[in-house]
Amino acid sequence: MTFTLDTVHAIVVVALASAKRFGYDPMFAVLYYLYARTFVGRWLHLNRLSAATKAQKGSHSKVKLHRYSGVTIKPIAILDDNYAYLIIDHNLKLGILVDPSEPRLVQEALKAEDINLAAILITHGHWDHSGGNTILHKLYPDIAIYGNSEDNVPNLTHFVKDGDSIKIGTLVFDVIGTPGHTLGHVMYTLNRKEQGEPSSVFSGDHLFLAGCGRIFEGNGAMMLKSLDRLLELDDKTLVWPGHEYATSNLKFAIAVEPSNKAIIEKLTWADSLRNNCESTCPSTIGEEKSYNPFLRSHIPEISKTLGCPEQTDYHNQNHRAEVVSLLRSKKNSFKAK
Ligand SMILES: [Zn+2]
Repeated sequence: MTFTLDTVHAIVVVALASAKRFGYDPMFAVLYYLYARTFVGRWLHLNRLSAATKAQKGSHSKVKLHRYSGVTIKPIAILDDNYAYLIIDHNLKLGILVDPSEPRLVQEALKAEDINLAAILITHGHWDHSGGNTILHKLYPDIAIYGNSEDNVPNLTHFVKDGDSIKIGTLVFDVIGTPGHTLGHVMYTLNRKEQGEPSSVFSGDHLFLAGCGRIFEGNGAMMLKSLDRLLELDDKTLVWPGHEYATSNLKFAIAVEPSNKAIIEKLTWADSLRNNCESTCPSTIGEEKSYNPFLRSHIPEISKTLGCPEQTDYHNQNHRAEVVSLLRSKKNSFKAK
């Protein structure tokens, strides 16, 4: 895309339409559109990658491999605090990458495991998740790249939507549409029910340990609906998020629900890991329900901390949407000490 007057006009019109739809600040809407939908975001991401390569920047966290029968999940710590994932199908010696936006580090992971890349799964269009696609597509032109066409995901070869199931090698991934952070955000659930093992959800920027993604392209009601989709998953489902935000999220969780002991215990645990730069993933859906304020919008204490009026029914959808919206905007300006 080149910047002609027509292009600038088109960007301003589209950005202002989304500002009006979701109540954004118009200047934020224009800047966000430039980042998310034009070459400006790609250019910024490529600069970030090149600076990381020059500095030979290593991973931000030490990770552990998680092995199940015939499958290994390897988190790959990339950029400043992102996680990509390598899922290995040992039966066919195939690898599937989730959100591999830093090609240098994901290639090292593929080489270390000595496996062939079979596919790439993208949760959403932000460059710190999809910005490796163009380079990886050039390196592996026959590899399928899955993602939702509603986001500006480069080099997609296969479009996915809510309710799809994808079979890659011997593994099956269920697609769950979770708009809110972006309109086209999806999660992928590695379904292990048949094997009698916990399934795994790759939650991108929808759900983090004790937190959820910033609402860039939706509103509180949309985000609440997407958060409720997580409650359909078994409590034992492992959660593999797109960022390492555990300690700052847990500190925010304590600030809005100070009497919750599950938060204090998890923060003590997370602090001890992060003091050694160890990764905190995965958590489980059951654990998240016990301390993640965004999955606890029905809790009266949280509502009270946010200054909401007393309710006769704290499970009311409109009230919970308001709580999610207030929680997220409070989190945007929260400074963890
Ligand atoms: Zn994002």
